[in-house]
Amino acid sequence: MTNDERQTTDAFLEDAAHYPGGHARGVVFPRSATEVAAILEGAEAVLPIGAQSSLTGGATPMGELIVATSKMTRVADVSAAGITVEAGLTVAAMQEHLARAGAWFPPAPTFSGATAGGIVSTNAAGAATFKYGSTRDWVDGLVVVLADGTILDVRRGEHFARGGRFTLVTRSGRITVPVPSYVMPAVVKRSAGYHAAAGMDLVDLFIGAEGTLGVVTQVTFRSVSPAPQTSLALIPCRSEQQALAFVGLLRRASRETWQTSDPAGIDAAAIEDMDRRSIAILREDGVDTRTQVAIPAGTTIALLVQLELPPALTPAAAYDQIAGAISPSAPDTALTRFCRLLNAAGLLDVTELALPADRRRIAQLVAMREGVPAGVNQRVGAAKRDVDPRIEKTAADMVVPVEHFAEMMEIYRRGFDARRLDYAIWGHVSDGNVHPNVIPRSLDDVVRGKEAILEFGREVARLGGCPLAEHGVGRNGVKQALLRQLYGETGIEEMRAVKRALDPHWKLAPGVIFGR
Ligand SMILES: Cc1cc2nc3c(=O)[nH]c(=O)nc-3n(C[C@H](O)[C@H](O)[C@H](O)COP(=O)(O)OP(=O)(O)OC[C@H]3O[C@@H](n4cnc5c(N)ncnc54)[C@H](O)[C@@H]3O)c2cc1C
Repeated sequence: MTNDERQTTDAFLEDAAHYPGGHARGVVFPRSATEVAAILEGAEAVLPIGAQSSLTGGATPMGELIVATSKMTRVADVSAAGITVEAGLTVAAMQEHLARAGAWFPPAPTFSGATAGGIVSTNAAGAATFKYGSTRDWVDGLVVVLADGTILDVRRGEHFARGGRFTLVTRSGRITVPVPSYVMPAVVKRSAGYHAAAGMDLVDLFIGAEGTLGVVTQVTFRSVSPAPQTSLALIPCRSEQQALAFVGLLRRASRETWQTSDPAGIDAAAIEDMDRRSIAILREDGVDTRTQVAIPAGTTIALLVQLELPPALTPAAAYDQIAGAISPSAPDTALTRFCRLLNAAGLLDVTELALPADRRRIAQLVAMREGVPAGVNQRVGAAKRDVDPRIEKTAADMVVPVEHFAEMMEIYRRGFDARRLDYAIWGHVSDGNVHPNVIPRSLDDVVRGKEAILEFGREVARLGGCPLAEHGVGRNGVKQALLRQLYGETGIEEMRAVKRALDPHWKLAPGVIFGR
Protein backbone atom coordinates (compact mmCIF):
# COMPACT_ATOMS: atom_id res chain seq x y z
CA MET A 1 0.00 0.00 0.00
CA THR A 2 1.23 3.54 -0.74
CA ASN A 3 1.02 6.21 1.97
CA ASP A 4 -2.01 7.71 0.25
CA GLU A 5 -3.73 4.35 0.09
CA ARG A 6 -2.93 3.73 3.77
CA GLN A 7 -4.36 7.11 4.75
CA THR A 8 -7.52 6.38 2.78
CA THR A 9 -7.84 2.95 4.37
CA ASP A 10 -7.25 4.38 7.87
CA ALA A 11 -10.38 6.49 7.51
CA PHE A 12 -12.48 3.29 7.37
CA LEU A 13 -11.12 1.27 10.30
CA GLU A 14 -13.89 2.08 12.78
CA ASP A 15 -17.68 2.15 12.79
CA ALA A 16 -20.05 4.00 15.14
CA ALA A 17 -19.65 1.23 17.75
CA HIS A 18 -15.93 2.18 18.02
CA TYR A 19 -15.18 -1.53 17.93
CA PRO A 20 -11.46 -1.88 18.69
CA GLY A 21 -8.71 -3.37 16.51
CA GLY A 22 -9.94 -2.40 13.04
CA HIS A 23 -7.43 -3.17 10.27
CA ALA A 24 -7.80 -3.81 6.54
CA ARG A 25 -5.98 -4.92 3.41
CA GLY A 26 -7.17 -1.79 1.67
CA VAL A 27 -10.34 -0.15 0.45
CA VAL A 28 -11.98 -0.17 -2.97
CA PHE A 29 -14.76 2.02 -4.32
CA PRO A 30 -16.61 0.08 -7.05
CA ARG A 31 -19.05 1.95 -9.27
CA SER A 32 -21.24 -0.93 -10.46
CA ALA A 33 -22.36 -4.48 -9.72
CA THR A 34 -19.97 -5.71 -12.43
CA GLU A 35 -17.04 -4.06 -10.68
CA VAL A 36 -18.14 -5.56 -7.34
CA ALA A 37 -18.31 -8.99 -9.02
CA ALA A 38 -14.73 -8.62 -10.34
CA ILE A 39 -13.50 -7.61 -6.86
CA LEU A 40 -15.21 -10.55 -5.17
CA GLU A 41 -13.85 -13.04 -7.68
CA GLY A 42 -10.28 -11.96 -6.94
CA ALA A 43 -10.49 -11.31 -3.20
CA GLU A 44 -9.82 -13.61 -0.26
CA ALA A 45 -12.01 -11.74 2.21
CA VAL A 46 -14.15 -8.61 1.83
CA LEU A 47 -16.23 -6.41 4.10
CA PRO A 48 -18.99 -4.39 2.41
CA ILE A 49 -19.61 -1.07 4.15
CA GLY A 50 -22.06 1.78 3.78
CA ALA A 51 -21.88 4.77 6.12
CA GLN A 52 -20.30 2.70 8.95
CA SER A 53 -23.02 3.85 11.35
CA SER A 54 -23.24 0.27 12.63
CA LEU A 55 -23.60 0.06 16.41
CA THR A 56 -22.34 -3.54 16.53
CA GLY A 57 -18.85 -3.52 14.98
CA GLY A 58 -20.34 -5.15 11.86
CA ALA A 59 -18.81 -2.42 9.69
CA THR A 60 -15.36 -2.63 11.31
CA PRO A 61 -12.84 -4.46 9.11
CA MET A 62 -10.72 -7.23 10.63
CA GLY A 63 -8.17 -7.69 7.88
CA GLU A 64 -10.56 -7.83 4.91
CA LEU A 65 -10.56 -5.74 1.77
CA ILE A 66 -13.16 -3.02 2.41
CA VAL A 67 -15.75 -2.66 -0.35
CA ALA A 68 -17.16 0.83 0.15
CA THR A 69 -20.39 1.64 -1.66
CA SER A 70 -19.96 5.42 -1.44
CA LYS A 71 -19.49 5.80 -5.22
CA MET A 72 -22.64 3.83 -5.99
CA THR A 73 -25.29 6.49 -5.48
CA ARG A 74 -27.29 6.56 -8.71
CA VAL A 75 -31.08 6.65 -8.66
CA ALA A 76 -32.36 4.30 -11.36
CA ASP A 77 -36.03 5.11 -10.98
CA VAL A 78 -38.28 7.17 -8.71
CA SER A 79 -42.04 7.66 -8.57
CA ALA A 80 -44.70 8.20 -5.92
CA ALA A 81 -44.85 4.41 -5.54
CA GLY A 82 -41.17 3.81 -4.83
CA ILE A 83 -37.54 4.26 -5.67
CA THR A 84 -34.74 2.11 -7.10
CA VAL A 85 -31.32 3.20 -5.89
CA GLU A 86 -27.76 2.01 -5.78
CA ALA A 87 -26.59 0.71 -2.41
CA GLY A 88 -24.47 3.71 -1.40
CA LEU A 89 -27.22 6.33 -1.55
CA THR A 90 -28.05 7.69 1.90
CA VAL A 91 -31.53 7.60 3.40
CA ALA A 92 -31.48 11.43 3.54
CA ALA A 93 -30.77 11.67 -0.22
CA MET A 94 -33.39 9.03 -0.93
CA GLN A 95 -35.97 11.04 1.03
CA GLU A 96 -35.10 14.15 -1.01
CA HIS A 97 -35.66 12.30 -4.30
CA LEU A 98 -38.91 10.86 -2.99
CA ALA A 99 -40.09 14.23 -1.66
CA ARG A 100 -39.76 15.67 -5.17
CA ALA A 101 -42.08 12.84 -6.31
CA GLY A 102 -44.48 13.62 -3.44
CA ALA A 103 -43.53 10.48 -1.52
CA TRP A 104 -41.72 9.33 1.61
CA PHE A 105 -39.85 6.25 2.87
CA PRO A 106 -41.23 5.38 6.33
CA PRO A 107 -38.90 2.90 8.09
CA ALA A 108 -35.91 5.27 8.09
CA PRO A 109 -33.53 4.83 11.05
CA THR A 110 -32.83 7.87 13.23
CA PHE A 111 -29.45 8.27 11.53
CA SER A 112 -30.36 9.47 8.03
CA GLY A 113 -26.77 9.21 6.78
CA ALA A 114 -27.17 5.40 6.72
CA THR A 115 -27.13 3.92 3.21
CA ALA A 116 -29.69 1.88 1.28
CA GLY A 117 -27.37 -1.15 1.38
CA GLY A 118 -26.73 -0.69 5.11
CA ILE A 119 -30.37 -0.43 6.15
CA VAL A 120 -31.25 -3.49 4.07
CA SER A 121 -28.34 -5.49 5.46
CA THR A 122 -29.30 -4.74 9.08
CA ASN A 123 -33.08 -4.68 8.50
CA ALA A 124 -33.01 -1.28 10.16
CA ALA A 125 -36.16 0.02 11.81
CA GLY A 126 -37.08 3.58 12.58
CA ALA A 127 -39.15 4.99 15.39
CA ALA A 128 -42.36 4.43 13.43
CA THR A 129 -42.17 0.63 13.20
CA PHE A 130 -45.48 0.48 15.08
CA LYS A 131 -47.29 1.86 12.04
CA TYR A 132 -44.93 1.07 9.17
CA GLY A 133 -42.87 -2.01 10.07
CA SER A 134 -39.13 -2.36 9.44
CA THR A 135 -37.02 -2.02 6.28
CA ARG A 136 -37.89 -5.60 5.26
CA ASP A 137 -41.53 -4.63 4.76
CA TRP A 138 -40.53 -1.98 2.19
CA VAL A 139 -38.05 -3.88 0.00
CA ASP A 140 -39.45 -5.01 -3.34
CA GLY A 141 -36.24 -6.12 -5.00
CA LEU A 142 -32.48 -6.37 -4.68
CA VAL A 143 -29.43 -6.78 -6.83
CA VAL A 144 -26.92 -8.83 -4.85
CA VAL A 145 -23.44 -9.94 -5.86
CA LEU A 146 -22.59 -13.36 -4.44
CA ALA A 147 -19.14 -14.45 -3.28
CA ASP A 148 -18.35 -16.14 -6.62
CA GLY A 149 -19.23 -13.00 -8.58
CA THR A 150 -22.76 -14.08 -9.60
CA ILE A 151 -25.00 -11.02 -10.00
CA LEU A 152 -28.43 -11.96 -8.68
CA ASP A 153 -31.43 -9.77 -9.51
CA VAL A 154 -34.17 -10.84 -7.10
CA ARG A 155 -37.70 -9.43 -7.09
CA ARG A 156 -40.08 -10.01 -4.21
CA GLY A 157 -42.70 -12.59 -5.07
CA GLU A 158 -40.67 -14.40 -7.73
CA HIS A 159 -38.47 -16.91 -5.93
CA PHE A 160 -39.59 -18.91 -2.90
CA ALA A 161 -38.04 -21.71 -0.82
CA ARG A 162 -39.44 -25.15 -1.62
CA GLY A 163 -39.03 -28.22 0.56
CA GLY A 164 -36.90 -26.25 3.04
CA ARG A 165 -34.37 -24.99 0.48
CA PHE A 166 -33.71 -22.53 -2.31
CA THR A 167 -32.26 -23.71 -5.60
CA LEU A 168 -30.13 -21.11 -7.37
CA VAL A 169 -28.22 -21.10 -10.62
CA THR A 170 -24.91 -19.33 -10.06
CA ARG A 171 -21.58 -19.00 -11.84
CA SER A 172 -20.38 -21.93 -9.75
CA GLY A 173 -23.29 -24.07 -10.97
CA ARG A 174 -26.59 -25.10 -9.44
CA ILE A 175 -26.58 -24.71 -5.65
CA THR A 176 -29.07 -25.46 -2.90
CA VAL A 177 -29.37 -23.22 0.11
CA PRO A 178 -31.04 -24.76 3.17
CA VAL A 179 -33.58 -22.68 5.11
CA PRO A 180 -32.91 -22.87 8.88
CA SER A 181 -35.62 -24.59 10.93
CA TYR A 182 -35.66 -22.28 13.98
CA VAL A 183 -38.80 -20.32 14.74
CA MET A 184 -38.24 -16.56 14.83
CA PRO A 185 -39.86 -14.63 17.70
CA ALA A 186 -43.19 -13.08 16.64
CA VAL A 187 -42.30 -9.43 17.26
CA VAL A 188 -42.37 -6.38 14.99
CA LYS A 189 -38.61 -5.82 15.02
CA ARG A 190 -35.94 -8.43 14.52
CA SER A 191 -32.33 -8.05 13.44
CA ALA A 192 -31.13 -11.40 14.73
CA GLY A 193 -29.29 -13.43 12.13
CA TYR A 194 -30.82 -14.97 9.02
CA HIS A 195 -34.53 -14.73 8.32
CA ALA A 196 -36.01 -18.22 8.21
CA ALA A 197 -39.56 -19.34 7.48
CA ALA A 198 -41.23 -22.10 5.50
CA GLY A 199 -41.75 -21.06 1.87
CA MET A 200 -39.91 -17.76 2.45
CA ASP A 201 -39.05 -15.27 -0.29
CA LEU A 202 -35.41 -15.21 -1.48
CA VAL A 203 -35.34 -11.40 -1.02
CA ASP A 204 -35.81 -11.95 2.72
CA LEU A 205 -32.71 -14.12 3.00
CA PHE A 206 -30.44 -11.20 2.11
CA ILE A 207 -32.29 -8.61 4.24
CA GLY A 208 -30.65 -8.52 7.66
CA ALA A 209 -27.76 -10.79 6.57
CA GLU A 210 -25.24 -8.05 7.55
CA GLY A 211 -23.11 -8.47 4.44
CA THR A 212 -22.34 -12.15 5.10
CA LEU A 213 -24.24 -13.60 2.12
CA GLY A 214 -23.66 -11.08 -0.66
CA VAL A 215 -22.94 -7.45 -1.49
CA VAL A 216 -26.16 -5.54 -2.11
CA THR A 217 -25.61 -3.17 -5.03
CA GLN A 218 -29.15 -1.98 -5.79
CA VAL A 219 -32.43 -1.83 -3.89
CA THR A 220 -36.02 -1.17 -4.92
CA PHE A 221 -38.01 0.29 -2.02
CA ARG A 222 -41.72 0.99 -1.86
CA SER A 223 -42.81 4.37 -0.48
CA VAL A 224 -45.95 6.10 0.75
CA SER A 225 -47.56 9.03 -0.96
CA PRO A 226 -48.31 11.69 0.05
CA ALA A 227 -45.85 12.08 2.91
CA PRO A 228 -47.80 12.40 6.18
CA GLN A 229 -48.11 15.62 8.18
CA THR A 230 -46.46 14.70 11.47
CA SER A 231 -46.72 16.58 14.73
CA LEU A 232 -44.77 15.75 17.89
CA ALA A 233 -46.24 15.62 21.38
CA LEU A 234 -44.02 15.64 24.45
CA ILE A 235 -45.88 14.07 27.36
CA PRO A 236 -44.19 14.07 30.79
CA CYS A 237 -45.74 11.35 32.99
CA ARG A 238 -45.66 11.04 36.76
CA SER A 239 -45.37 7.27 36.76
CA GLU A 240 -44.60 4.43 34.37
CA GLN A 241 -48.06 3.04 35.09
CA GLN A 242 -49.68 6.29 33.92
CA ALA A 243 -47.46 6.35 30.81
CA LEU A 244 -48.11 2.74 29.85
CA ALA A 245 -51.87 3.08 30.36
CA PHE A 246 -51.82 6.02 27.94
CA VAL A 247 -49.59 4.14 25.46
CA GLY A 248 -52.12 1.28 25.51
CA LEU A 249 -55.02 3.63 24.73
CA LEU A 250 -53.07 5.38 21.99
CA ARG A 251 -52.00 2.12 20.33
CA ARG A 252 -55.59 0.80 20.40
CA ALA A 253 -57.05 4.03 18.99
CA SER A 254 -54.45 4.17 16.21
CA ARG A 255 -54.97 0.53 15.21
CA GLU A 256 -58.70 1.22 15.00
CA THR A 257 -58.06 4.22 12.75
CA TRP A 258 -55.92 2.15 10.36
CA GLN A 259 -58.57 -0.57 10.25
CA THR A 260 -61.51 1.74 9.67
CA SER A 261 -59.74 4.56 7.73
CA ASP A 262 -61.71 6.94 9.95
CA PRO A 263 -60.65 10.47 8.87
CA ALA A 264 -61.18 11.73 12.44
CA GLY A 265 -59.29 8.82 13.96
CA ILE A 266 -56.17 9.14 16.11
CA ASP A 267 -53.11 8.14 14.10
CA ALA A 268 -49.93 7.74 16.19
CA ALA A 269 -47.08 6.32 14.11
CA ALA A 270 -44.56 6.13 16.93
CA ILE A 271 -44.32 6.51 20.69
CA GLU A 272 -40.85 6.90 22.16
CA ASP A 273 -39.99 6.86 25.85
CA MET A 274 -37.21 8.17 28.08
CA ASP A 275 -36.80 7.07 31.70
CA ARG A 276 -35.92 9.21 34.70
CA ARG A 277 -32.15 8.76 34.28
CA SER A 278 -32.37 9.67 30.58
CA ILE A 279 -34.13 12.90 31.56
CA ALA A 280 -31.50 13.60 34.23
CA ILE A 281 -28.78 13.22 31.58
CA LEU A 282 -30.49 15.87 29.45
CA ARG A 283 -30.48 18.23 32.44
CA GLU A 284 -26.87 17.44 33.44
CA ASP A 285 -25.74 18.16 29.86
CA GLY A 286 -27.78 21.35 29.52
CA VAL A 287 -29.71 19.86 26.61
CA ASP A 288 -32.95 21.22 28.09
CA THR A 289 -31.54 24.75 28.02
CA ARG A 290 -30.01 24.37 24.54
CA THR A 291 -33.15 22.95 22.97
CA GLN A 292 -35.48 25.05 25.16
CA VAL A 293 -37.38 21.88 26.09
CA ALA A 294 -37.95 21.77 29.82
CA ILE A 295 -39.31 18.53 31.25
CA PRO A 296 -41.11 19.23 34.57
CA ALA A 297 -39.51 18.11 37.83
CA GLY A 298 -41.12 14.91 39.12
CA THR A 299 -41.36 13.35 35.65
CA THR A 300 -40.69 9.63 35.90
CA ILE A 301 -40.97 8.87 32.22
CA ALA A 302 -41.46 11.15 29.22
CA LEU A 303 -43.22 10.10 26.02
CA LEU A 304 -42.67 11.58 22.58
CA VAL A 305 -45.53 10.80 20.21
CA GLN A 306 -45.40 11.13 16.42
CA LEU A 307 -49.00 12.00 15.62
CA GLU A 308 -50.02 12.05 11.96
CA LEU A 309 -52.64 14.66 11.08
CA PRO A 310 -54.82 15.11 7.99
CA PRO A 311 -52.90 16.99 5.24
CA ALA A 312 -55.60 19.67 4.85
CA LEU A 313 -55.37 20.83 8.50
CA THR A 314 -54.13 24.43 8.63
CA PRO A 315 -52.17 25.70 11.67
CA ALA A 316 -54.99 28.15 12.50
CA ALA A 317 -57.62 25.40 12.45
CA ALA A 318 -55.33 23.16 14.51
CA TYR A 319 -54.85 25.83 17.21
CA ASP A 320 -58.64 26.38 17.33
CA GLN A 321 -59.23 22.67 17.72
CA ILE A 322 -56.67 22.35 20.52
CA ALA A 323 -58.04 25.37 22.37
CA GLY A 324 -61.62 24.10 22.31
CA ALA A 325 -60.86 20.37 22.36
CA ILE A 326 -62.68 19.50 25.55
CA SER A 327 -65.69 21.72 25.12
CA PRO A 328 -68.82 19.70 24.24
CA SER A 329 -69.27 21.70 21.01
CA ALA A 330 -65.75 20.94 19.70
CA PRO A 331 -65.67 19.34 16.25
CA ASP A 332 -64.87 15.64 16.12
CA THR A 333 -61.36 15.54 14.61
CA ALA A 334 -58.16 13.54 15.02
CA LEU A 335 -56.66 16.37 17.01
CA THR A 336 -59.61 16.88 19.36
CA ARG A 337 -59.80 13.14 19.97
CA PHE A 338 -56.08 13.09 20.82
CA CYS A 339 -56.55 15.99 23.25
CA ARG A 340 -59.50 14.26 24.86
CA LEU A 341 -57.55 11.06 25.28
CA LEU A 342 -54.80 13.08 26.99
CA ASN A 343 -57.37 14.82 29.14
CA ALA A 344 -58.93 11.55 30.26
CA ALA A 345 -55.46 10.34 31.29
CA GLY A 346 -54.84 13.59 33.24
CA LEU A 347 -52.04 14.53 30.80
CA LEU A 348 -53.51 17.33 28.68
CA ASP A 349 -52.21 20.20 30.82
CA VAL A 350 -48.62 18.97 30.84
CA THR A 351 -48.40 18.02 27.16
CA GLU A 352 -46.63 20.13 24.58
CA LEU A 353 -47.74 19.64 20.98
CA ALA A 354 -45.60 20.88 18.07
CA LEU A 355 -47.69 21.09 14.90
CA PRO A 356 -46.32 19.94 11.51
CA ALA A 357 -45.76 23.53 10.34
CA ASP A 358 -43.68 24.36 13.43
CA ARG A 359 -40.49 22.84 12.05
CA ARG A 360 -38.24 24.69 14.48
CA ARG A 361 -40.00 23.29 17.53
CA ILE A 362 -40.14 19.81 16.05
CA ALA A 363 -36.38 19.99 15.41
CA GLN A 364 -35.83 21.07 19.03
CA LEU A 365 -37.86 18.16 20.38
CA VAL A 366 -35.99 15.72 18.14
CA ALA A 367 -32.66 17.22 19.25
CA MET A 368 -33.73 16.83 22.87
CA ARG A 369 -34.51 13.13 22.30
CA GLU A 370 -31.20 12.62 20.49
CA GLY A 371 -29.46 14.18 23.50
CA VAL A 372 -30.04 10.97 25.45
CA PRO A 373 -27.92 8.50 23.38
CA ALA A 374 -25.40 11.29 22.72
CA GLY A 375 -25.11 11.95 26.48
CA VAL A 376 -24.66 8.27 27.29
CA ASN A 377 -22.06 7.79 24.53
CA GLN A 378 -20.19 10.86 25.73
CA ARG A 379 -20.07 9.40 29.28
CA VAL A 380 -18.81 6.05 27.96
CA GLY A 381 -16.12 7.90 25.98
CA ALA A 382 -15.07 9.92 29.04
CA ALA A 383 -14.81 6.80 31.24
CA LYS A 384 -12.76 5.07 28.52
CA ARG A 385 -10.43 8.05 28.35
CA ASP A 386 -10.18 8.83 32.07
CA VAL A 387 -10.72 5.51 33.85
CA ASP A 388 -9.82 2.50 31.72
CA PRO A 389 -9.29 2.22 27.93
CA ARG A 390 -11.04 -1.17 28.00
CA ILE A 391 -14.36 0.42 28.96
CA GLU A 392 -16.87 0.14 26.12
CA LYS A 393 -20.48 0.83 25.28
CA THR A 394 -22.52 -1.76 27.15
CA ALA A 395 -26.03 -1.67 25.79
CA ALA A 396 -28.92 -3.86 24.78
CA ASP A 397 -31.53 -3.43 22.04
CA MET A 398 -34.37 -5.74 22.98
CA VAL A 399 -38.02 -6.10 22.06
CA VAL A 400 -40.88 -7.92 23.77
CA PRO A 401 -44.56 -8.19 22.84
CA VAL A 402 -46.04 -4.95 24.24
CA GLU A 403 -48.21 -6.80 26.75
CA HIS A 404 -44.97 -7.83 28.51
CA PHE A 405 -43.35 -4.39 28.37
CA ALA A 406 -43.99 -3.39 32.00
CA GLU A 407 -42.75 -6.76 33.27
CA MET A 408 -39.59 -6.53 31.17
CA MET A 409 -38.87 -2.95 32.30
CA GLU A 410 -39.01 -4.25 35.87
CA ILE A 411 -36.57 -7.02 34.95
CA TYR A 412 -34.14 -4.55 33.31
CA ARG A 413 -34.20 -2.34 36.41
CA ARG A 414 -33.87 -5.24 38.86
CA GLY A 415 -30.96 -6.70 36.91
CA PHE A 416 -29.05 -3.42 36.80
CA ASP A 417 -29.92 -2.38 40.37
CA ALA A 418 -28.84 -5.75 41.78
CA ARG A 419 -25.43 -5.12 40.18
CA ARG A 420 -25.31 -1.54 41.50
CA LEU A 421 -25.02 -0.11 37.99
CA ASP A 422 -25.81 3.38 36.74
CA TYR A 423 -28.01 3.05 33.64
CA ALA A 424 -30.53 4.73 31.38
CA ILE A 425 -33.36 3.12 29.44
CA TRP A 426 -35.06 4.73 26.47
CA GLY A 427 -36.54 3.54 23.21
CA HIS A 428 -39.61 2.81 21.19
CA VAL A 429 -42.32 1.88 23.68
CA SER A 430 -44.91 1.57 20.89
CA ASP A 431 -43.01 -1.53 19.70
CA GLY A 432 -41.98 -2.86 23.12
CA ASN A 433 -38.37 -2.07 22.10
CA VAL A 434 -35.94 -0.27 24.39
CA HIS A 435 -32.22 0.33 24.68
CA PRO A 436 -31.08 -0.40 28.25
CA ASN A 437 -27.63 1.25 28.47
CA VAL A 438 -25.07 0.98 31.24
CA ILE A 439 -23.28 4.21 32.15
CA PRO A 440 -19.98 2.62 33.16
CA ARG A 441 -17.79 4.11 35.88
CA SER A 442 -15.28 1.25 35.87
CA LEU A 443 -14.31 -1.79 33.83
CA ASP A 444 -16.11 -3.86 36.43
CA ASP A 445 -19.37 -2.06 35.52
CA VAL A 446 -18.86 -3.19 31.93
CA VAL A 447 -18.33 -6.80 33.00
CA ARG A 448 -21.40 -6.80 35.25
CA GLY A 449 -23.43 -4.92 32.61
CA LYS A 450 -22.69 -7.62 30.03
CA GLU A 451 -23.71 -10.29 32.51
CA ALA A 452 -27.00 -8.42 33.09
CA ILE A 453 -27.63 -8.14 29.34
CA LEU A 454 -27.21 -11.88 28.84
CA GLU A 455 -29.68 -12.44 31.66
CA PHE A 456 -32.13 -9.99 30.00
CA GLY A 457 -31.75 -11.91 26.72
CA ARG A 458 -32.97 -15.10 28.40
CA GLU A 459 -35.93 -13.28 29.96
CA VAL A 460 -36.84 -11.54 26.70
CA ALA A 461 -36.84 -14.90 24.89
CA ARG A 462 -38.98 -16.43 27.67
CA LEU A 463 -41.54 -13.64 27.11
CA GLY A 464 -41.64 -14.31 23.35
CA GLY A 465 -39.42 -11.34 22.43
CA CYS A 466 -36.17 -10.89 20.55
CA PRO A 467 -32.90 -9.81 22.24
CA LEU A 468 -31.64 -8.23 18.99
CA ALA A 469 -34.24 -5.81 17.67
CA GLU A 470 -32.86 -3.23 15.26
CA HIS A 471 -29.08 -2.89 15.25
CA GLY A 472 -28.06 -6.42 14.27
CA VAL A 473 -25.39 -8.69 15.71
CA GLY A 474 -22.16 -7.64 14.02
CA ARG A 475 -18.90 -8.57 15.74
CA ASN A 476 -20.15 -7.75 19.23
CA GLY A 477 -19.39 -10.71 21.52
CA VAL A 478 -22.42 -10.18 23.76
CA LYS A 479 -24.76 -9.86 20.77
CA GLN A 480 -23.34 -13.04 19.23
CA ALA A 481 -23.88 -14.76 22.60
CA LEU A 482 -27.48 -13.45 22.69
CA LEU A 483 -28.07 -14.95 19.24
CA ARG A 484 -26.70 -18.31 20.45
CA GLN A 485 -28.96 -18.11 23.51
CA LEU A 486 -31.95 -17.42 21.26
CA TYR A 487 -31.50 -20.16 18.65
CA GLY A 488 -29.03 -22.50 20.36
CA GLU A 489 -25.84 -23.88 18.84
CA THR A 490 -28.04 -25.86 16.41
CA GLY A 491 -29.59 -22.66 15.10
CA ILE A 492 -26.16 -21.06 14.60
CA GLU A 493 -25.00 -24.20 12.79
CA GLU A 494 -28.05 -23.91 10.50
CA MET A 495 -27.01 -20.32 9.72
CA ARG A 496 -23.49 -21.54 8.98
CA ALA A 497 -24.97 -24.05 6.51
CA VAL A 498 -26.69 -21.16 4.67
CA LYS A 499 -23.40 -19.28 4.53
CA ARG A 500 -21.41 -22.32 3.41
CA ALA A 501 -23.86 -22.86 0.52
CA LEU A 502 -23.58 -19.27 -0.74
CA ASP A 503 -20.04 -18.44 0.36
CA PRO A 504 -18.07 -21.70 0.70
CA HIS A 505 -14.72 -19.93 1.11
CA TRP A 506 -16.09 -17.61 3.85
CA LYS A 507 -15.13 -14.52 1.87
CA LEU A 508 -17.93 -12.17 2.88
CA ALA A 509 -17.81 -10.34 6.21
CA PRO A 510 -16.13 -13.26 8.03
CA GLY A 511 -16.74 -13.15 11.79
CA VAL A 512 -19.87 -11.00 11.49
CA ILE A 513 -23.02 -12.55 13.13
CA PHE A 514 -21.15 -15.79 14.01
CA GLY A 515 -17.68 -17.29 13.83
CA ARG A 516 -16.63 -19.87 11.27
C1 LIG B 1 -26.90 8.09 15.78
C2 LIG B 1 -27.33 6.74 15.30
C3 LIG B 1 -28.69 6.45 15.28
C4 LIG B 1 -29.14 5.19 14.83
N1 LIG B 1 -30.48 4.94 14.81
C5 LIG B 1 -30.92 3.75 14.35
C6 LIG B 1 -32.34 3.47 14.30
O1 LIG B 1 -33.18 4.30 14.63
N2 LIG B 1 -32.71 2.26 13.85
C7 LIG B 1 -31.81 1.33 13.42
O2 LIG B 1 -32.22 0.27 12.99
N3 LIG B 1 -30.48 1.56 13.46
C8 LIG B 1 -30.01 2.73 13.91
N4 LIG B 1 -28.66 2.97 13.95
C9 LIG B 1 -27.71 1.95 13.48
C10 LIG B 1 -27.30 2.13 11.99
O3 LIG B 1 -27.58 3.41 11.55
C11 LIG B 1 -28.04 1.11 11.13
O4 LIG B 1 -27.61 -0.18 11.45
C12 LIG B 1 -27.83 1.32 9.60
O5 LIG B 1 -28.69 0.43 8.95
C13 LIG B 1 -26.43 1.07 9.11
O6 LIG B 1 -26.28 1.62 7.80
P1 LIG B 1 -24.86 1.96 7.20
O7 LIG B 1 -25.00 2.41 5.80
O8 LIG B 1 -24.12 2.86 8.09
O9 LIG B 1 -24.18 0.50 7.20
P2 LIG B 1 -22.78 0.09 7.83
O10 LIG B 1 -22.73 0.48 9.24
O11 LIG B 1 -21.69 0.54 6.95
O12 LIG B 1 -22.91 -1.49 7.73
C14 LIG B 1 -23.78 -2.20 8.57
C15 LIG B 1 -23.74 -3.69 8.20
O13 LIG B 1 -24.29 -3.87 6.91
C16 LIG B 1 -23.33 -4.41 6.01
N5 LIG B 1 -23.47 -3.69 4.75
C17 LIG B 1 -23.42 -2.34 4.54
N6 LIG B 1 -23.63 -2.07 3.23
C18 LIG B 1 -23.82 -3.27 2.62
C19 LIG B 1 -24.07 -3.65 1.28
N7 LIG B 1 -24.18 -2.76 0.29
N8 LIG B 1 -24.19 -4.97 1.00
C20 LIG B 1 -24.08 -5.90 1.97
N9 LIG B 1 -23.84 -5.59 3.25
C21 LIG B 1 -23.71 -4.29 3.57
C22 LIG B 1 -21.97 -4.22 6.67
O14 LIG B 1 -21.07 -5.24 6.30
C23 LIG B 1 -22.35 -4.27 8.15
O15 LIG B 1 -22.41 -5.60 8.59
C24 LIG B 1 -28.19 4.22 14.40
C25 LIG B 1 -26.83 4.53 14.41
C26 LIG B 1 -26.40 5.77 14.85
C27 LIG B 1 -24.93 6.06 14.83
